Amino acid sequence: MYLDSISYRVGSGWDVHRLVPAGKPFVLAGVRIDYPLGLKAHSDGDVVAHSLADALLSAIGENDIGEHFPDNDPNWENATGEEIVGKVVELVRARGFTVVNVVITIFAQYPKLKPYRISIKNSVCKWLNLETNSVAVHFNTVEGLGVIGAGAAVACHTVVLIKRKI
Ligand code: MG
Repeated sequence: MYLDSISYRVGSGWDVHRLVPAGKPFVLAGVRIDYPLGLKAHSDGDVVAHSLADALLSAIGENDIGEHFPDNDPNWENATGEEIVGKVVELVRARGFTVVNVVITIFAQYPKLKPYRISIKNSVCKWLNLETNSVAVHFNTVEGLGVIGAGAAVACHTVVLIKRKI
């Protein structure tokens, strides 16, 4: 079977940023998280947006966001996660695909993110024009292990399914 005749394709993305005292505001899927530490990043450090963008790019066989939005390119220096995801969604649609569903798992020991679940979910639904039952937002505290468990970083893994538009 030729690749172009396949109707469904899966994508996967992962991102991590350090949490530091003098970091940028802590933002997940464009939602501001109230926490004294911020993310260390050239961009806004939005791990949800970045892993989502990578997942979408991988689903259409494209290289990662580091190649599409280089951090030494002044055009993308202050790009928000929403802007990056918006550009990638345009590319996915231009290739003839639409997003079916998304599974987002955020790895963070601190802060507790459950109060932000609905806001994060609503934000992703808006970005991708999806119903709430097509976007899952899960949290994992990594049981105190490693740098994430020590509260020094936050990571996100995202899986997407896309479908060829008929
Ligand atoms: Mg990133």
